[in-house]
Amino acid sequence: MSATATVTETAVAGPSDGGSKKPLTKPGEKLQVVPEFLKAFTLTIAKTFYGVEHFVIADYIQRNVCVKEEKLRQLLKFDPRSLKPILTVLKVDKLVKERIVTEEIDGKQKKVPYYYINYKGVINVTKYKLDQIRQKLESREMAHTHQANYICTGCKQKFGPLEVGMLWNAQANMLKCWTCFARVEDEETAGPSEDTRSSLAKFNEQTGPLVTVMQSMNGVIFADNILEPPVPTTAEAEEKAKAEAENNPKRVLGLGERFFNADAPKYTADTMKLNLGGEIDYVETEKEAVPWLKGSVRISLADIERKEAQKKSREIKKANSRLNRYNAADADNREIDELLKAEKEKIETRGKRPRPTLDDFIKLVKENATKRLGEEYSSPPAKRPKFTLGDEEDSQDAPANNTNGNGQSTHPSRKLSPKEQLQQDLQVNVGGKTFLVNQITESTLAQMTPNELEQYHMAYERLIDLVYRTGW
Ligand SMILES: [Zn+2]
Repeated sequence: MSATATVTETAVAGPSDGGSKKPLTKPGEKLQVVPEFLKAFTLTIAKTFYGVEHFVIADYIQRNVCVKEEKLRQLLKFDPRSLKPILTVLKVDKLVKERIVTEEIDGKQKKVPYYYINYKGVINVTKYKLDQIRQKLESREMAHTHQANYICTGCKQKFGPLEVGMLWNAQANMLKCWTCFARVEDEETAGPSEDTRSSLAKFNEQTGPLVTVMQSMNGVIFADNILEPPVPTTAEAEEKAKAEAENNPKRVLGLGERFFNADAPKYTADTMKLNLGGEIDYVETEKEAVPWLKGSVRISLADIERKEAQKKSREIKKANSRLNRYNAADADNREIDELLKAEKEKIETRGKRPRPTLDDFIKLVKENATKRLGEEYSSPPAKRPKFTLGDEEDSQDAPANNTNGNGQSTHPSRKLSPKEQLQQDLQVNVGGKTFLVNQITESTLAQMTPNELEQYHMAYERLIDLVYRTGW
């Protein structure tokens, strides 16, 4: 079982009604029959953590209680070379036990290995493995918490919260890496930290049914016939096989066939009962008890932790989405506020100077704008889509700040001059009249239809973009 294995199959048929409320056996009694849920648990472990072949072999061993290797080979029609390694894995990981019996075959004494399910081992090993995975996830989560919060999209350099202030580039309106000048992002968006944070909760949630089964087995003492099932005599085995074949010819499932019955009880939030160990008065004392196998405390605590982790994960998700919303809105507002403030200051300082005209603006665009923007407005805009508005302003000599709605029709095919193009980008139609975006007043805004409003917002964004990029 690898510690990184993911739990995909958790549909374990659990203890029957009340099974988790009451201990399986009374104090002092031994468990005589393997409960169905424990069988399903064993197969789930084999299937989830090892593979389909392991699952099938474990299933055959379970059905036959105690079976020799030769018989398994006949039943499964596995290649002996592939059967042996799988059996070894199951044996090493204590899912099955092997017993060597000396048998007389063709007049010779031969040692024959028999296999049977090691239920106690399955539970203990699963406890241990799950604990290992949990610890690994916890330490990973811990490591992640102490990591930097910001990461460069270019060179992947990481920055702590204190360094971020120095990375802020007001011109580009973003965090810029000081090494490669790429954008620096909150690690929330750059890496799978949400994943890491919720992986522990996910793990706890997925392994919950397994934990419940293991809990219900706490303190249960297995009878000897479960711990060390007797080797069937040849006649007995044959008889049994014959009876099985007659009664239930289709009892053996084929490879890949679904084992879990759809009608079998599945663990859901409603059917899952927690046993926090309170009802179990006695605990079997184990001679060589290793700390992680002792009693039920560890698992019970784990279960509480699981619940809390689930809750925490939900809360983190909620808080994150709230935070993102707030940040996004806040960033927008801040940006606009800053722009408006800068604009206001400029207007104030400009005071007595005449307001720049559209011509000034275009000049500025040509001088200062980025290459892309410069091309857009300085080269003849032949490739740009043409608008076929009937009503278009003649802006040949009209400055931007005193144009009015008086239009003059233009041929759609005529190439627009950069100035016209810019003007067209910045104009808004309200109730049939054309305004430049900076001419829009509160009262005009109130009259706008939703479509016009959208047009206005687009023109406004365009204006802000231009203002921002030209440093006007
Ligand atoms: Zn960088």
